[in-house]
Amino acid sequence: MKDYYAILGVGREATQEEIKKAYRRLALQYHPDRNPGDKEAEERFKEINEAYAILSDPEKRAQYDRGLLGAPEFQAEDLFDLFAQVFGFRSGRTAPRGEDLEAQVEVALEDLLGGKEVEVTYARLVPCESCHGQGGKRVACPTCGGRGVVETYRQGLFSGFVTRSTCPHCKGQGYLLAEACPTCRGRGRVAREERVRVRIPPGMDEGQILRVPGYGNLAPGGPGDLYVRLRIRPHPHLEREGPHLVYRLRIGLAQAALGTRVEVPGLSGPIPLDIPPGTGHGEVFELPGEGLPYPGGRGALRVVVELSVPKHLSPKAKELLRAYAEEVGEKVAPEGFWEKLKGLFRK
Ligand SMILES: [Zn+2]
Ligand SMILES: [Zn+2]
Repeated sequence: MKDYYAILGVGREATQEEIKKAYRRLALQYHPDRNPGDKEAEERFKEINEAYAILSDPEKRAQYDRGLLGAPEFQAEDLFDLFAQVFGFRSGRTAPRGEDLEAQVEVALEDLLGGKEVEVTYARLVPCESCHGQGGKRVACPTCGGRGVVETYRQGLFSGFVTRSTCPHCKGQGYLLAEACPTCRGRGRVAREERVRVRIPPGMDEGQILRVPGYGNLAPGGPGDLYVRLRIRPHPHLEREGPHLVYRLRIGLAQAALGTRVEVPGLSGPIPLDIPPGTGHGEVFELPGEGLPYPGGRGALRVVVELSVPKHLSPKAKELLRAYAEEVGEKVAPEGFWEKLKGLFRK
């Protein structure tokens, strides 16, 4: 048997008021809505509710104190009902929140430098004005008498208990439609185009998602959230590698051998760069601080040299290259060799 007093952090002599106070504090702290995806918090929330369900009931507490209470069984729904009851609001089950939505927004690579405010256009469900969100003429559900839940008595180890479940007839709504609204065809909601301005923080990644609370579908239990997925438009010259940018610089043979000064298209404008004599294919020049911002700094712009070998040469250029080859002792194909070879295959 668990120590319910320890779970609530109160002494065995605690008054009902002290127990309730401890429960309120802990239930808020460990509520699943506040700790999404946290299994430990969920387990704690269950324990806290279980402890409160027993200790707040004088009869059950007395049985528990004397070690006479069997292991109680609770349904997850009961726990949320208890929570809702103590805090004085309706449990989420009876009035569901609107659904979350996803939208996409495309920005340029340049927009990631300082961040940008963009307008997102999307469609969401809002209450139908013709029927005021009612879906049409309503009648109370005869199965559950309009309560949306049905109760079943079950026999436990030491005592019986009541479990509540959603009414299967009206699916928990408590009503049925006698006549459907023609505008929304009984759904109570219609799609509407919406616009929302979203701030894109600097340096965001492709596919990253921004949450915009309250901009999802509208429903009686409150609005859902909107999740905006970021797409980055391909840049004509620059590629992205995390916070770094990559530029592929094509230079000619003479430029590589003799050196040159080029202009690199940086995100905020052209950047002059000296290519020293004797630069090889695949060499990388790193320009620090010319990449994208990230928390605590800015990435680099990496200039990757690609040697461009000419495919077509003028007779003069050919002559000069032959002279060059001779000067440095490079063995090259004799003049007219390739033309002859092609002629042979054509026959
Ligand atoms: Zn019903
Ligand atoms: Zn309607």
